[in-house]
Amino acid sequence: MAAFPAADHQILDTYAYINADGTWVLCWDWGRYMNHSCAPNTLGLGPYADVAVRDIQPGEQLTCEYGMLNLAEAMDCHCGAPRCRGHIGPDDVLNYGEDWDTVVAQAAPFAGQVDQPLKAYLQDPAYVDGVVRGNFPLPKARSYYRAS
Ligand SMILES: [Zn+2]
Repeated sequence: MAAFPAADHQILDTYAYINADGTWVLCWDWGRYMNHSCAPNTLGLGPYADVAVRDIQPGEQLTCEYGMLNLAEAMDCHCGAPRCRGHIGPDDVLNYGEDWDTVVAQAAPFAGQVDQPLKAYLQDPAYVDGVVRGNFPLPKARSYYRAS
C-alpha cells in the first residue's frame, strides 16, 4: 500500500484484499467485479480459487464472502440476502468459517463434473484438481485468517 501514490489508496481499499500471508492482493481481472453476499454463490476452495456452491444462472451476479478476505475494518452490508448479517467483520471467518467449510465440502465434488474453462488461469490447477477429487483435504476457511 505504501508503495502506491495516495491517489491510488481508495482504489486499493476497494479492490484489494489481504491474504493469509498478509500480502495485499489487487485483483486485476474480472474478480474485482465480484460482490459480497451473506449467501454467496461462490466460496473459497483454497486461497486462490473459488467454487460455485449452487447453480448460477446466466446473467446472475457472482458473489463471494468478503468475511474471508481479512478486511482491515468492518463494513455495512446491504446484500439483500434473507439472512444478511448487516455487516461484514474482519473476524467473521472465526464465527462462520465452519459453516462456509460445510457448504464448500458439499459443492466441491461437483466442480470436477463440469467444464472449467478458466482452469488454465489458476495459480496451481493441480492442487485445485486434487482438492476437488478429494486427494487433498479441503482447506479450512479459518486458514485464511490473519489477525489484524
Ligand atoms: Zn449481507
